Amino acid sequence: MERSINFYGACIFILAILSACSTGKKESSTNVTSVLQDKQSKSDVALLINKLVTAFADEWMASYQYWMAAKLVQGELRSQVIKELIEHYNDEMRHADMIAKRLIELNGDFRMFPQDWHKIGVCHYDSITESSVISVLNENIKGEQCAIDFYQNLLEMVKGKDDKTYSIILEILNDEIEHKKDLEELHQALPKLK
Ligand code: FE
Ligand code: FE
Ligand code: MG
Repeated sequence: MERSINFYGACIFILAILSACSTGKKESSTNVTSVLQDKQSKSDVALLINKLVTAFADEWMASYQYWMAAKLVQGELRSQVIKELIEHYNDEMRHADMIAKRLIELNGDFRMFPQDWHKIGVCHYDSITESSVISVLNENIKGEQCAIDFYQNLLEMVKGKDDKTYSIILEILNDEIEHKKDLEELHQALPKLK
C-alpha cells in the first residue's frame, strides 16, 4: 500500500513539473508576441515589407548599373573609377542580400524577375547611354541621392518600433552616404587633370 502511494505521489510530482514547464513556455512566447504587437501593428509590418521589396528591387538595379558602368566607362581616371564602381557593385549586392534575409524573417514575398526591378523600384536608374567618366559619375551620384532619401525615410518609419530592421537600414544608409561621397570626390578630381 505504501509503495503504491509513493508511486502515485511520484506521478503527480512529475505531472506537476511537466505542467509548470509547459505553462512557463506559453507565458514567455505570449510575452514576446505581445511586445511585438505593441510596437508594430499588422499594417505597419505590411507597409514595411512593401518598402523592403522596393529597396530590394532598387539594390539589384543599382548593382547592375554599377556592374555595367564598370565595363563601359571611358576617359580620365578610368582605372580608379572602375575600382570604385566594382566596390559599390559588391556593396549593393550585399545590401540586396541583407534585405532579402530580413524579408524572409518577416514572411515577405520578394519574388520578381529583372524586368520588374524598374516597376517595383523607385530610384529608376537610367541605362548607360553615355560611357564617359563624367556622365557615369553624375548618373550614379543621382542614384545614390535617391537611395539616401529612401533609406532616411525608412529609418524614421521603423525607429523605436523594429530594432532589427533599424540596424540593417542604418548600416545600408551609411554605405550609401559613403558611396555618394566617394563618387563626388572622383568627380571633383576630374577638372584638375585638365
Ligand atoms: Fe545599396
Ligand atoms: Fe549605393
Ligand atoms: Mg566606395
